[in-house]
Amino acid sequence: MPITHTGIQKLRKTRPDGSPFKTDAKTRRESRDRMRKWRSNPKNRFKAVKRQRKLRLNPAYRKIEREKDRIAASYRWHNLTPSEKTKKLKYMQEYNKKIHTKRKILVMTHYSKGAPKCSCCGETILDFLTIDHINQNGTQHRKKHKITGHIYKWLIDKHLPKGFDVLCFNCNLSRSFPYNNGICPHKKVIQCQ
Ligand SMILES: [Zn+2]
Ligand SMILES: [Zn+2]
Repeated sequence: MPITHTGIQKLRKTRPDGSPFKTDAKTRRESRDRMRKWRSNPKNRFKAVKRQRKLRLNPAYRKIEREKDRIAASYRWHNLTPSEKTKKLKYMQEYNKKIHTKRKILVMTHYSKGAPKCSCCGETILDFLTIDHINQNGTQHRKKHKITGHIYKWLIDKHLPKGFDVLCFNCNLSRSFPYNNGICPHKKVIQCQ
């Protein structure tokens, strides 16, 4: 059965038996413990593995299950108190920061073939470094693959393809100025006087 928007709205207000939907930390903890107990039974473990396999191999099933997960997550969010929401947001921000740094170091280390550094001027401070499209086609590339925000996750998902390099923001930006024709000023001799 397809899950519609109005269906979600209805679901949010009531449980299937008509009672209002409200969970507290204790109820959630209890249900989590129940699931843990269920999984610890070898028979049920097999069921769980089977489900994982089906999720992997059957795109239609995966789509429905993901939608269910999404709704469940939105239930949980709507039932939080304001202070719980603030706490969760803070936790998520911390988590995102952590995973972003982790991904960035992994990608940079791969493309620098060692400790991350700018391949032009040798800058080593991580915050100054960025990924450079060797063929100067960053905008088209992002558009084509619908990459919004950071590119690191996309690179990792695609098994770190060729055509990218590590540059610092200075080298990366000045290389992209039209009058520089894709060459960093570091590599040109410019006479100022
Ligand atoms: Zn540089
Ligand atoms: Zn440079």
